[in-house]
Amino acid sequence: MNIRHPQIDFPPLTERTATDMIVIHHTGGSDVDASAIQINQWHINQKYSCIGYHFVIRKDGTVEVGRPEWAVGAHAYGENYHTLGIHLSGDFEQAAPTQAQIQACSELVADLCRDYQIPVDREHIVGHCDLMATACPGKNLYSLLPEIISRANKIHHVTPVPVNGKPVENIFDLARRYESNGDPAAIGHGYGLYQFTKKNRAHVR
Ligand SMILES: [Zn+2]
Repeated sequence: MNIRHPQIDFPPLTERTATDMIVIHHTGGSDVDASAIQINQWHINQKYSCIGYHFVIRKDGTVEVGRPEWAVGAHAYGENYHTLGIHLSGDFEQAAPTQAQIQACSELVADLCRDYQIPVDREHIVGHCDLMATACPGKNLYSLLPEIISRANKIHHVTPVPVNGKPVENIFDLARRYESNGDPAAIGHGYGLYQFTKKNRAHVR
């Protein structure tokens, strides 16, 4: 997965305290290959504080990081407090997403579900139209959600091996525990990795 970090200046944002669902969106209106920087400007014009989506997937499959992953988004009215928003560029009422977009979306969904321990199923990976009356993400992307989920399910095969009989925590829980313990050695390791992962979506496969 090719990830790009566009230069966007973010205003102060609120940290999200729960993450148990991923919402898929499209651009709509016209089949443009919208960038995160363009969408940021559109959303500012609509009086949002900045881009509402956490990720933008371009037609060539490049993933652009939008609103910081830890922040409450602005993409699914009433559901932003517990969801991540992924936007695929294009109008999928008329056009179809590219194979590169479907593959990148599957990989991103797989990584996010692993990191936040979200079940990779149709209940937790939803289209915007599952939450409210909208055509988003367009019928040609909406109908591919089962395919995205199926691919995502095949990406991380590794079952965590219990340590001393306890299940392995995910990286965020582990890092938070290190942080709360104030262990200086651990801060350089777990917490650093936590911050790095949050900022850069490191891929620990
Ligand atoms: Zn939408």
